[in-house]
Amino acid sequence: MKDYCTQMEAAKKGIITPEMEIVSAKEEINVDKLMELVACGQVAIPANIYHNSLSPEGIGTGLKTKINVNLGISGDCKDYDMEMQKVDLAIKYGAESIMDLSNYGKTNVFRQELIKKSPAMIGTVPMYDAIGYLEKDLLEITAKDFLRVIEAHAKEGVDFMTIHAGINRRTVEAFKRDRRRMNIVSRGGSLLFAWMEMTGNENPFYEYYDDVLEILRRYDVTISLGDALRPGCIDDSSDAGQLCELIELGNLTKWAWEHDVQVMVEGPGHMALDEIASNMKMEKRLCHNAPFYVLGPLVTDIAPGYDHITAAIGGAVAAASGADFLCYVTPAEHLRLPDLADVKEGIIATKIAAHAADIAKGVKGAREADNRMSEARHKVDWEEMFSIAIDEEKARAYYESTPPSDRHTCSMCGKMCAVRTTNMILEGKKVELLKLDEK
Ligand code: SF4
Repeated sequence: MKDYCTQMEAAKKGIITPEMEIVSAKEEINVDKLMELVACGQVAIPANIYHNSLSPEGIGTGLKTKINVNLGISGDCKDYDMEMQKVDLAIKYGAESIMDLSNYGKTNVFRQELIKKSPAMIGTVPMYDAIGYLEKDLLEITAKDFLRVIEAHAKEGVDFMTIHAGINRRTVEAFKRDRRRMNIVSRGGSLLFAWMEMTGNENPFYEYYDDVLEILRRYDVTISLGDALRPGCIDDSSDAGQLCELIELGNLTKWAWEHDVQVMVEGPGHMALDEIASNMKMEKRLCHNAPFYVLGPLVTDIAPGYDHITAAIGGAVAAASGADFLCYVTPAEHLRLPDLADVKEGIIATKIAAHAADIAKGVKGAREADNRMSEARHKVDWEEMFSIAIDEEKARAYYESTPPSDRHTCSMCGKMCAVRTTNMILEGKKVELLKLDEK
């Protein structure tokens, strides 16, 4: 019998859990230091007691930036096999987290299979599932009903849940007063706003926050405090609604920690490049250094079809400035449910952003792969280069699609390969380009 319920409770009691041991080995961080970071909330280890296939990861201060892949069944695309193939892709390319955003029919069958097979942590947004799970329309759902959905997900083994508890009456007032271009673009946030406006009630996740925390504590589910008022265009960022909600999220963070529930805080959204760094610092300040989970931020609104790039630019700056966890964005963002190719593009773009940020943040070991790649390039060792590449298949396919006549170069510069020329001179050899033509 364990004498703790959550990773945070264990850490506060000075107990090193098996999950902390695994994370400390993965991150090459001293386990006592890690325990201290979990105890004070700067690191979360989302690990539901019923997720038996989980390979635990830590999210937060001093650790590698993690990435999340969204997938799930929707009303317009009910292809279970396709969604499972996306799961396989996410695992193959090393995503540390998968969010099941299924919002159609009985989603538990897909989710249970996902939890059974996934070493990645699993997140959900119970609000999306409420209508299907409860078989009631929005207006008929009661506050207690919402709690039942949270408990159902927790029992299944979900590691973290996005719960939009910060859009309470005060936040709504600020949002309505300070008009914005795109209003609310968070799916869960918009449903809650609609429920609150139609019923006249307070946000049930805010009103019954203690009950929410009690459920999450029992299964060691990490709360990911959703930002219902995340800006949906760059013109809405850093406005009264966003900041008012962030202040509430800071309050809810402390409240959760008092119950030993681990916390992540969610962030924007869409945001101009020059606002990102200060937003990250403000989040850390207002939310007491809790791990920060960002969706993007997308740094421009005019690139549909390329939003994996707009998000990766913002994600790299965000993570370099303090964000700990990046939600992937695919080229299909704003346009349709992503297909397999979109998922792969989104994962790779987000991994690049996370890795670039880790180099900038000085995360332990982050530069090692880059240095090994440089060594391989210096030696013009193609196999070594492919094996280090974030996307080995694509790198190899590009090289082989236009093979050079001399494999000590590539088809970009051919015989004028700068690397080879310099290597030859430094080795005391002559460079005779015309003679190379004769070979
Ligand atoms: S040919 Fe040009 S691009 Fe290709 S490896 Fe040599 S220097 Fe690099």
